[in-house]
Amino acid sequence: MKWRSLSASLARQLQLPDGDIQTVPVHGGDINQAFRLECGVHKYFVKVNRADLLSMFVAEKAGLDAIRRSQTIRVPEVLLTGDEDNYAYIVMENIEFGGQADAGRLATAIAAMHCCFEEQFGFECDNTIGSTPQHNAFNTDWIDFWRQHRLGFQLELAQQNGFDAGLIDAGNRLSENLVKFFETYHPRASLLHGDLWSGNQGADLDGNPVIYDPACYYGDHEADLAMMELFGHPGHNFFNRYSEHFPIDSGYAERRELYNLYHVLNHANLFGGGYAAQAQRMIERLLAL
Ligand code: ADP
Repeated sequence: MKWRSLSASLARQLQLPDGDIQTVPVHGGDINQAFRLECGVHKYFVKVNRADLLSMFVAEKAGLDAIRRSQTIRVPEVLLTGDEDNYAYIVMENIEFGGQADAGRLATAIAAMHCCFEEQFGFECDNTIGSTPQHNAFNTDWIDFWRQHRLGFQLELAQQNGFDAGLIDAGNRLSENLVKFFETYHPRASLLHGDLWSGNQGADLDGNPVIYDPACYYGDHEADLAMMELFGHPGHNFFNRYSEHFPIDSGYAERRELYNLYHVLNHANLFGGGYAAQAQRMIERLLAL
């Protein structure tokens, strides 16, 4: 059994009764290895990575805890983080999933989460988006926050990764021009999941929406909505119901591309391939607005 010694230690820390400990591999994550730790009726979900990546799991716990404290949408409860045997781990409640959430229920819950406001944009700690660092130093100015910590940071990475100078130049021009997207729109700092694509959400067996694997921070709620539309679409029912709880500004359609550019640049930096060309096209369209 691959995780024998780690599982035995986790079972002790979780004060599980003596018994046969099973580890069942769970597939589907992008970044980490995962397994279900089972001991009789007790089941936990465990993610594992290199020991030096422990801070990633500590930050994931901070995000899950923040959403959990908001009491707006179900997230797994985190029981342990730590490192052992050259592995970092995060242990959380195992959730049995029953498919995708109903769009209306998901919309109500996400809007409620977005109605948890902070005074400033940012988060209590830095975290990761995919495996890329995501900086969250608090800032009262959203445009400045987005320019420095989101768009600017990814452009710097793109430059270090040797991407086309045309992409970097155009990106920097856009970065200098962000004000035009916010002339009549002044977002509040909402609690965001931060990586809300369809692979990070589902419903439990009672049909309650569940979100997981966050990259939390306080930011413009439109950034979460945009990400929901990047790889798939939550459907019109979602947006209709969401707007009943949290109105969506008429300029959202333009800012959606700006917000998703961050994720597309991140994909370009992580995976290369066609994402750099996609990012360049997005930048050209945004510059032309
Ligand atoms: P990664 O950090 O590697 O992207 P995820 O957090 O997305 O990993 O988890 C990988 C998969 O494990 C998810 O797609 C989901 O199916 C499942 N999963 C995530 N959290 C739980 C949980 N608390 N209980 C049970 N299964 C989970």
